[in-house]
Amino acid sequence: ATPLSVMVGTGKGAQAGILIRSAEALETAHELDTVVLDKTGTVTEGKPVLTNVHTADGFQESELLTLVAAAEADSEHPLAGAIVTGARDRGLTPPAASGFDSVTGKGVQATIDGHTVLVGTARLLADADIDSGALTPIAAGFSAEGKTPVLTAVDGRPAGVLAVADTIKDDSVQAIAALHRLGLQTVIITGDNARTAAAIAAQVGVHRVLAEVLPEHKADEIRRLQAEGRTVGMVGDGINDAPALAAADVGLAIGTGTDVAIEAADITLITGSLTGVVTAIQLSRATMRNIR
Ligand code: ADP
Ligand code: MG
Repeated sequence: ATPLSVMVGTGKGAQAGILIRSAEALETAHELDTVVLDKTGTVTEGKPVLTNVHTADGFQESELLTLVAAAEADSEHPLAGAIVTGARDRGLTPPAASGFDSVTGKGVQATIDGHTVLVGTARLLADADIDSGALTPIAAGFSAEGKTPVLTAVDGRPAGVLAVADTIKDDSVQAIAALHRLGLQTVIITGDNARTAAAIAAQVGVHRVLAEVLPEHKADEIRRLQAEGRTVGMVGDGINDAPALAAADVGLAIGTGTDVAIEAADITLITGSLTGVVTAIQLSRATMRNIR
């Protein structure tokens, strides 16, 4: 594109709340055939709320929630925030943990009042040789509703499942439908479990789901799609998403997300709405039409 048409395109983008960092990004966006969307904070609001507490036999609800909230107090994961707030809202005051370890992409392990408490995915429990047993169907039920199940074990015994729900952004469904009308394939990528991801994917209508992807593997998934011959746009908000945003042909960061994601991306969507992805692609197509 000519410098003038790039200037016009960039200016129009800025007016629409789309900050385009380079001429190359504006030029490449019209070639995208696949858009990969991070789930939490990108398709959804990223403000999860604790909705359910299911206890295994022998555990009492407030007692379990107190232990779990104590274990999550030092975690920076949004799920941890939802659980700590949920406990506080129920009038509970969790004690301080005496030991704490965060297991990336899986959960946390903490020592509370001498008890070993595990909080996270079924994989976290399995890694500790704990069979989720009766918790499995409960977790599956929460997932089918699009909620994230958080499994817990205390001293090596399955203790309960909490459910955390996140709201889909108002215009996500509309924006994804618009991407399909433009002829693009859509994919949700998430560290969350496959059932929850599938339920959210069905609600918003994306073509494909990549679930249970560990943070360090998100960029690999982008490269895998590129190896299939696709030109890939990645939309994300989190620190976890930064390598994938950089690996994509065009990285688009949610403006309300983390600075790390914004710095790794080529385009920033100031309002955080996915309609910005549609506008960016339309803008690129218009820019490239003008110069030919
Ligand atoms: P995402 O934020 O996309 O869900 P993560 O890689 O951060 O991806 O986490 C993957 C999964 O690991 C989460 O969906 C959750 O089930 C579990 N997890 C991670 N951290 C925690 C935590 N602090 N407490 C409970 N579960 C967690
Ligand atoms: Mg996210």
